Amino acid sequence: MHEHGHCQAYLKQISDYVDGELSSEVCASLESHLKECENCRIVVNTLRKTIDLYHDTAENDDLPDKVRSRLFARLNLEDPKQGGIHGS
Ligand SMILES: [Zn+2]
Repeated sequence: MHEHGHCQAYLKQISDYVDGELSSEVCASLESHLKECENCRIVVNTLRKTIDLYHDTAENDDLPDKVRSRLFARLNLEDPKQGGIHGS
């Protein structure tokens, strides 16, 4: 079994790692840990997917269906049909 404290030290580096901001030394030690630790690999994968999704959304201005329908649902909730302010 893995020591959790060990992983937490790596977890702090993972967001920098995904951003590509980790020095190559630290990067190498993190990657060797990732080979042995599925937990941390999952964290990296999840972070990467989240960031990819974020970049896709920002660049294409085309929201994934789930996000879009969520957004619309929220807008409907917050925007009553009456339309609010009418300037004259
Ligand atoms: Zn780990």
